[in-house]
Amino acid sequence: MKANTYHLWTIGCQMNEADAWRAAAMLESAGWRPVEHARDAQFLLLSTCVVRQQAEDKILSRLRYVEELKRAEPSRTVALMGCFVGFRTEAKGELAARFPFVDLFLPPSQPEGLERWLAARAEGTAGEREAAGAAEGCGEGMPPPLPESRAGGRTVSAHLPVVLGCSHACAYCIIPYRRGPERSRPAAEVLAEARALAGRGVRELVLLGQIIDRYGLDLGEGAMRLPELLRQVAGIPGVRRVRFLTSHPNWMTDELIDTVAGTPGLMPYFEVPVQSGSDAVLAAMRRGYTVARYEEIVARLRERVPGAGLSTDLIVGFPGETEAQFEESLALMRRIDPDMIRVAKYSPRPMTLSARTMPDDVPPEEKERRRVAVETQLREMLTAKHARRLGCEEEILVERIEAGGRRYGRTPDGKPVFVDGCGAEPGAIIRVKTTWTGPFSFIAEPA
Ligand code: SAH
Repeated sequence: MKANTYHLWTIGCQMNEADAWRAAAMLESAGWRPVEHARDAQFLLLSTCVVRQQAEDKILSRLRYVEELKRAEPSRTVALMGCFVGFRTEAKGELAARFPFVDLFLPPSQPEGLERWLAARAEGTAGEREAAGAAEGCGEGMPPPLPESRAGGRTVSAHLPVVLGCSHACAYCIIPYRRGPERSRPAAEVLAEARALAGRGVRELVLLGQIIDRYGLDLGEGAMRLPELLRQVAGIPGVRRVRFLTSHPNWMTDELIDTVAGTPGLMPYFEVPVQSGSDAVLAAMRRGYTVARYEEIVARLRERVPGAGLSTDLIVGFPGETEAQFEESLALMRRIDPDMIRVAKYSPRPMTLSARTMPDDVPPEEKERRRVAVETQLREMLTAKHARRLGCEEEILVERIEAGGRRYGRTPDGKPVFVDGCGAEPGAIIRVKTTWTGPFSFIAEPA
């Protein structure tokens, strides 16, 4: 174990990663540095996700390993953060009893407990067990949410949370119970962070929220809304590209779509989860829209933002989902022709409406069969769609240098591209010509 070192382990969504990076940034500005292996670290930071049972299982197995490390070296500090901890202070007592080797419990997007721990440690009072309080808000007066070790061109694309929590309460979703009610961060705070990130060499900003289209609605009458926020972020010197996710069909406005169409720097890319292609299942999920409404939104963004990339999420095996209803999801995917589908097998999550009131009645083998069917269809559709881009020119933002010198970047509509024979530095925007296209990435050479 090396003194003043930390190791970050993170799973889950982009929001989790953003939270983790903020915590890492706080550690680094207090003089800690990252190490590759947990066994070498004095501070073990675990950023957790519980959106599906699978994620929770991973955390439990990781915690067993961390417990061993702590037993071997009791002077280590273990910090558990994110959705496994949740925003409710009451949950912490139970967690502390279950995992006595954990020193710090940090709720999602609330790293104040870490800040207090670092301050206490600086004063020489470290080692006390800290129960992080449920402090309001996040971000003010904090370092830029990017660790020093990842700044200076090492991180080209960074996530920036703008709407925290969620109040929608889809029947299956645990997020509102763990991340708390929806709250938008003040625009001034978001813009200050965006400028700080650009100053650290970040060239692409991805604004985050569970229903990002609702940005500002909770801040009152005159508050800035998402379209204006996006325009202002895109106008920050050094920022070359801006994306945002996740959208909800009920809250996407024409103004938002037109802003994407009309703002250079705002990428033609939308993430709009549909979850099911059956109206009956959507109603049971409490999603608040119909399949027809979803298709209308997709048609509108395709019409106004030509060439836009569309990514969607789909749940298979929701309680009661029949074979015919599942076929409706497959058919919807063929009609909307998405550029990516994140498909998940339904798993019941504590507290949620579906876990409390709807039997998990689609057998595991059947969920797996449905998942594979979606993936297979997607692979076939994308193979054909991407073949039409073979030999075409694409503009990519170089994000990193891969093993062997290959450059990695993405097209404006979000397609991953590997570029051979290219000496461009991360952060550069280059024109390339594709030499191979597959379902999930392209290979290219400088144009
Ligand atoms: N706020 C976004 C994303 C929520 S979580 C939205 O409105 O959709 C990310 C994805 O995890 C969801 O889109 C959903 O497809 C999946 N998911 C959430 N809860 C789940 C559950 N209980 N079982 C399976 N997948 C789930």
